[in-house]
Amino acid sequence: MTTISAAPSGTSLVVDGVQLIGGAWVPASTGETIDVIDPASGEVLAAVPRGTAYDVEQAVRAAEEAFPAWRDTKSTTRGELIHRWAALIDEHTTEIDELESREVGRPHWGPPPMARILRFIAGQADKVSGLSLPTHTPDVLGLTLREPYGVVGSVIPWNAPGAMFSNDVGAAIAAGNTIVVKPAEDAPLTPLALARLALEAGIPPGVVNVVTGYGLEAGAAIPAHPRIRRMSFTGSPETGESIMAACAKNLTPLHLELGGKSPQVVFADADLDAAVPAMVAGITLNTGQICAAGSRVVVERSVHREVVSRIAEHMAKIRIGAWHEKVQMGPLISAKQHARVMGYLSLGREEGAELVTGGGTPSGAEFDRGFFVEPTLFDEVTPQMRIAREEIFGPVLSVIPVDDEDEAVEVANGTDYGLVASVWTSDVGKAVRMSRRLLAGQVGVNNAIGAGVIGGPFGGYKRSGFGRTMGADAVLEYTQVKTVSLRGTQ
Ligand code: NAP
Ligand code: MG
Repeated sequence: MTTISAAPSGTSLVVDGVQLIGGAWVPASTGETIDVIDPASGEVLAAVPRGTAYDVEQAVRAAEEAFPAWRDTKSTTRGELIHRWAALIDEHTTEIDELESREVGRPHWGPPPMARILRFIAGQADKVSGLSLPTHTPDVLGLTLREPYGVVGSVIPWNAPGAMFSNDVGAAIAAGNTIVVKPAEDAPLTPLALARLALEAGIPPGVVNVVTGYGLEAGAAIPAHPRIRRMSFTGSPETGESIMAACAKNLTPLHLELGGKSPQVVFADADLDAAVPAMVAGITLNTGQICAAGSRVVVERSVHREVVSRIAEHMAKIRIGAWHEKVQMGPLISAKQHARVMGYLSLGREEGAELVTGGGTPSGAEFDRGFFVEPTLFDEVTPQMRIAREEIFGPVLSVIPVDDEDEAVEVANGTDYGLVASVWTSDVGKAVRMSRRLLAGQVGVNNAIGAGVIGGPFGGYKRSGFGRTMGADAVLEYTQVKTVSLRGTQ
């Protein structure tokens, strides 16, 4: 068995060919593996098991076995164990950061958030409480209990695997559930490393299980499993539909987070010195592969020309390269995503948008083997164009000029999505009105993607999904309510 070392220290957090089921590191039942590719070079980083429905069944059984004791573990102890997990992540922060950078292809984007996410959640573990209810007679006590579901399932995407894994697993287990997670085939290594540290922290075997594999094999088996009591999915609306359909068969409750086509509304009175760099950073961070990326600039016509030329100027300064270089933007995750984004670049031209900058793959030998694409700006985009309606999931920004506030609202709200919306204005009245009028789960005013807020609930309106993560109620979302009426005997 080979190991990959992600760390300068040489510590290995990921072992080739094994996944975590019931506290044991095991290969897939078929023995098959899937290669994980470095998207900057096309080199194989590691191999993970190609799990199947059989492996999911083993994981569900292990999670069922672990559930009663974990449910009955004192909630303060659950919180302490999650704190210990966070501390171990901090100890390994450089390795984990490097591991995620390598598999996602992302240049360093600041301290990894996983330990911070888990500490926030750990603090909620022993604050799950119910109500005392009024009663018809004094000899009855009425109360509600918040109880875990049991074994819960989660399918996560590849764009921010560390944060996705921590948010979902942390909240689920803090509430006393046990969990089976299927990470994306493109970025399963960070979740496997985090799961290893969870076990090392003393979180009991079977509480956290990770089955790797393809979406249609291991992934589809989780929502289809009749003993999964709650499901969580983050990814594309198309896959979200099939997850929801599978859950419908078993009447399994679910949470969906499905991406967006987020507007950046820029009014003529905006501080463009602040807005322009933030908008460029927002669409180039993680190579635009962020559900919350602001991918449409809805701009008041009087500043339209200026905004376009300033964005183009900033985009031209974005350096592209592999994760370990001094660059702002890496490659896309895979050949499939590269082909998809290139398809949208052609489509934009065909639809009649005006290409201002970018529009292809960067030239140079260093880009030959990776899935690189240039940051791209399309101007004169109309709200009907597909590049204005569909999630591209790449560094592609579409500019749509509008005449006034009402048209800005109509255009901003005019897609099927409703994840994030930003407004840039120095008029407080406009800021207040827009905060109310925009149909999105998160609205940022003179601010990108809710930056600066601690514990803001995160989730979608419309086809961006439903349910909220990350907030003060993240752990409550992983509980179900039981009403108890208690009459004492004479
Ligand atoms: P995807 O198909 O939705 O994949 C997300 C996760 O679902 C992965 O773990 C995937 O596994 C799994 N999966 C796929 N089909 C499944 C099924 N039938 N049942 C259960 N699980 C399944 O997304 P993608 O193909 O990677 O990317 C396509 C587009 O989705 C992107 O271009 C972007 O627009 C959107 N997307 C959004 C987000 C977000 O954060 N909202 C994240 C990723 C993608 P495998 O990948 O291992 O097959
Ligand atoms: Mg996929």
